[in-house]
Amino acid sequence: MPKAQILAGTADTVARASQYLRAGQLVALPTETVYGLAGHALNKEAVTNIFRVKGRPLIDPLIVHIAHWEQLEALTSAQPEAARLLAKAFWPGPLTMILPKAESVPELVTAGNPTVALRMPAHPLARSILQASGLPLAAPSANPFGYISPTTAQHVADSLGERIAWIVDGGPCERGLESTIVDVSGEKPRLLRPGPIPPEAIASALGIDSIAVATKSEREDIPVEAPGMLTRHYSPRTDMTLIPCGQLPPPARGGQAAWLALSRASAQNAPRGYARYWLSETGNLDEAAAALFSLLRKLDSQGLDHLYVEEPAKTGVGLALADRLQRAASR
Ligand code: AMP
Ligand code: MG
Repeated sequence: MPKAQILAGTADTVARASQYLRAGQLVALPTETVYGLAGHALNKEAVTNIFRVKGRPLIDPLIVHIAHWEQLEALTSAQPEAARLLAKAFWPGPLTMILPKAESVPELVTAGNPTVALRMPAHPLARSILQASGLPLAAPSANPFGYISPTTAQHVADSLGERIAWIVDGGPCERGLESTIVDVSGEKPRLLRPGPIPPEAIASALGIDSIAVATKSEREDIPVEAPGMLTRHYSPRTDMTLIPCGQLPPPARGGQAAWLALSRASAQNAPRGYARYWLSETGNLDEAAAALFSLLRKLDSQGLDHLYVEEPAKTGVGLALADRLQRAASR
């Protein structure tokens, strides 16, 4: 396989990418969450290649991306009212819904589950390619399984450049965290993965007080705990420790240590001996989310002995940020 070519986000690229995808080939493309490794979701060979290229276990189901509600109807066997409400409120956008699958969806995509994960992304290039190809696209993050998700075309090239042929460049991802996942296939909607859309907003769109959060023991319907929900995930190689929001790392004890704070002010309060970084000038959590994976990659390439990261309070998008940080720090 030739080294991946990075294609500028032009109309010509949209046409080419659609052609490759229709031919069953894989294309990495930008979404507002992270870059995805896309393939025709109903083409088993394409889907098999997605798993192979990522080194992703076959027990980890894929999210299928669509451009229209009609595609949701074609890929599901029922469309609960909760799905309509959430689609109306958040699609196109960083929300994935779990729904009962239609026969046409290969079991490979859903890892044998009777349900399918669907998302309508908002990124203009992702939308154009979905529309031009007319295909539902399975598209997990375009990175080797378990490593930090890519938020630029260069990140994709850095880790999958030898294994794929095409990367569509849409600039840095606006949200920078994987989608919020809500299971609407059962009696009561449940939050499966926190993401850019906070649980409070989901509950409000559904007209309920709060949304239930799925726990591991509840998930017996799923062969194993779905990764993306694995304890260790999104992981840098550097040793990483979380420090609760508002506190500071311990005095430096030699070696190369860095402090990654939520705001510039908190970065500057680090004890002596620390290299200082911040996720947002003012501590804005949406900005911090957008910057997180890119900064983690950068810091992970610096051969640090230790990285301390400030963990946000778990409200709003802080819940998703804290979730990703905990998985990244877990050994
Ligand atoms: P990603 O890693 O962003 O591609 O998202 C894939 C994740 O979506 C999986 O790891 C699961 O956590 C979740 N997912 C996908 N399909 C299903 C499904 N049918 N049921 C439950 N969770 C799913
Ligand atoms: Mg992933």
